[in-house]
Amino acid sequence: MTAYRRFRDRRRIGPVQVGTYYDGRGRDKHAAACTAPGCGFSADYTDRSAAELAANTHRCKA
Ligand SMILES: [Zn+2]
Repeated sequence: MTAYRRFRDRRRIGPVQVGTYYDGRGRDKHAAACTAPGCGFSADYTDRSAAELAANTHRCKA
């Protein structure tokens, strides 16, 4: 991830961080990003539960 937005409700699930941020268009979005070096997994979701599910099921390549 390049631009760091203002995350809140950050939570770590294994190596993956899940955070909620405001997308600037009146909606909240949820990001899941792996913090393991060399993995590079990150994705945005419209549902918090989807982001947490992705974090839970992430199979780290690193
Ligand atoms: Zn990973």
